[in-house]
Amino acid sequence: MELTGGCYCGAMRYEAEGKPKLRAQCHCRECQYFSGGGPNFFLLIPPENFRYTEGTPQSFRRSDLENAVTREFCAQCGTHLATRRQDMPEVILKAGTLDGPNFSANRRSLSSRSTASPSISSRKKCLPTSACRDAEPKDT
Ligand SMILES: [Zn+2]
Ligand SMILES: [Zn+2]
Repeated sequence: MELTGGCYCGAMRYEAEGKPKLRAQCHCRECQYFSGGGPNFFLLIPPENFRYTEGTPQSFRRSDLENAVTREFCAQCGTHLATRRQDMPEVILKAGTLDGPNFSANRRSLSSRSTASPSISSRKKCLPTSACRDAEPKDT
């Protein structure tokens, strides 16, 4: 399987080969900043299978957080494309940047007709080792 995608303005392009290790969605507070408030749909790609084919991403990492992730985005249009965690080799690729963002995680589909109605909550946190893994909202 080959996946291609890029940023909103087209300056950044990437390719990913093979089967993503995981497709999931995350509802944590951090992801809300990047998704607009809804779930962040992402794929986990082994780093050797992912490469930028056009453009060089700008990257950002918060210095005030322990184990802060590195976020890669287009310097021109600001589209956030991928995230890298210090505790995990895989590239966390944002599904919305795929050329064909037909995507399902937890049986929900990412499309304009999606029936998903996620709630926004500031209480969700990414577990340090879970990589935003399958983080369905769960009120405990
Ligand atoms: Zn761009
Ligand atoms: Zn998250």
